[in-house]
Amino acid sequence: ASEPLRFLVTGGAGFIGSALVRHLIAQTRHEVLVVDALTYAGNIANLTPVADDPRYRFRQADIRDGDAMEKAFAEFDPDIVMHLAAESHVDRSIDGPMDFIDTNIVGTAVLLQAALRHYGTLAEPRRTRFRFHHISTDEVFGSLGATGHFSESTPYDPRSPYSASKAGSDHLVRAWHHTYGLPILLTNCSNNYGPYHFPEKLIPLVILNAIEGKPLPVYGKGENIRDWLYVEDHARALALVAESGRPGETYAIGGHNERRNIDVVETICAILDRVRPDPQGPHGRLITFVADRPGHDARYAIDAAKIESELGWQPAESFETGLEKTVRWYLDNEDWWSAIRSGHYRGERLGLHGRS
Ligand code: NAD
Repeated sequence: ASEPLRFLVTGGAGFIGSALVRHLIAQTRHEVLVVDALTYAGNIANLTPVADDPRYRFRQADIRDGDAMEKAFAEFDPDIVMHLAAESHVDRSIDGPMDFIDTNIVGTAVLLQAALRHYGTLAEPRRTRFRFHHISTDEVFGSLGATGHFSESTPYDPRSPYSASKAGSDHLVRAWHHTYGLPILLTNCSNNYGPYHFPEKLIPLVILNAIEGKPLPVYGKGENIRDWLYVEDHARALALVAESGRPGETYAIGGHNERRNIDVVETICAILDRVRPDPQGPHGRLITFVADRPGHDARYAIDAAKIESELGWQPAESFETGLEKTVRWYLDNEDWWSAIRSGHYRGERLGLHGRS
């Protein structure tokens, strides 16, 4: 095992951040400080499996709060920052873009400044081992036609307020590298799915609605294509890049699992028909087509050749095995999702509408 390092993980109470923290605590000797504002998407219950580990700590703070970030850096003295805190839901970005600009762009800039003060300068680094790893999405590349893949060299062409705000943050991170010498790493990943996924996103929403006999909403004709990656495969890739990636480099991460949305929904229905048959009939009867999302990107697909050949990463799950694990996790963890669905979670009543 590699030497123990200190990881400061922003957004560690979210879907991917918590998978990363669970991975770091279970599979490595590293220490972790989670910095998370606990917005509607942050859920401390996602960190229950690590809560009692002495190598894990949690701090509730907003990445836009420069003083709080400086304090977290000074007290924890991280070797690696993994930056996942973001507003992440495309539909919410269409309804209210300003929170996305504030957190994803301004928040990233505030965090970069705190990281730079911690690191020093290229000429006079105060730390020999430091990395700022920014976690981003393939949505910054826009929309693909029927063929081709996104890779590290694809030009940026974001189309939603969410993807534009993530693109803005990616540009800032690279600017802090080129201008100030901050040792950065950047990853752009395809759509994730798996346990602890907030039930406004397509896959958990479809699983839970199907269990409850509610309509399964599918945008347009369900022909939009996404490239799906099991969240634990992503967490492993992130830890690998943070420890072994070359500073200044970008790595595209994806699972070679392109699926039309309608195929995703039908596969979930088929799994449920097998593991939890509904006496009322096949779950596919619940599929309901709804008006398409404005500016809905047609297709995303990732060419992950660089991380595969340079760092030896490979996804462990196929889409079918990962999806079955996910369905079974939701069936086994009703306490987790019923708290969110009932609206008791953080006292909010959420408009849950099935979007990925
Ligand atoms: P999420 O919405 O589940 O979690 C985001 C977390 O950030 C939450 O815990 C929230 O409380 C926290 N947060 C939000 N605003 C904050 C602020 N101002 N200060 C501190 N904390 C704040 O998101 P996710 O799906 O886990 O995504 C994590 C990251 O990965 C994001 O940057 C996202 O853009 C990126 N990403 C996501 C996917 C995906 O499929 N979900 C794919 C590729 C990249």
